[in-house]
Amino acid sequence: MQNVKSIYADNVQVQMDKADINSTICWFCDKIDTEDDKTEIYLQKLLNTNIGLTGNKYEYLVLSRRIPCCRICRRTHENARKWSSILMTLGGIAGLLAGLILPFVIFLNLQITPGKNFNTIVICAIFGGIVSGGILGYLLGRKIAFALAPGTKPETYAGQHPLIEPLMSEGWRIGKPE
Ligand SMILES: [Zn+2]
Repeated sequence: MQNVKSIYADNVQVQMDKADINSTICWFCDKIDTEDDKTEIYLQKLLNTNIGLTGNKYEYLVLSRRIPCCRICRRTHENARKWSSILMTLGGIAGLLAGLILPFVIFLNLQITPGKNFNTIVICAIFGGIVSGGILGYLLGRKIAFALAPGTKPETYAGQHPLIEPLMSEGWRIGKPE
């Protein structure tokens, strides 16, 4: 088991370009004036790892920065998250079924008598099916979300924003600790 503790760090200061920071143009599509509409980007930095008998305990520093983001881009990012997780689950289930059924279909069609390794083959096929189905579903969900809004760049593009980039070069990473 792994434990995660976060410490909120709101007083981190870095050098940045004032002109870029005051822009209200959407960072993710560069087209729409957001009229001060913003999205919150969380950053994390590993502070400490305590190795223990019951599992490792990780301590993170966490902070957030708000950068201009229009409604279309924000909705696209939400859809990408939502659809990729739904399709990842569905892909995993489809992969499980395929992994369960395919070895039997193949063995029956080729008229091979299942040997003593057959159980191992089925288990590997199920495992491989879940993993590959899950990955394919995840990628497909993101692809659909961004296909509907071709001008929107993914959330990770926030890493190049002048408010965020200096933090990234100091070892911060986008995302909340889980
Ligand atoms: Zn936008």
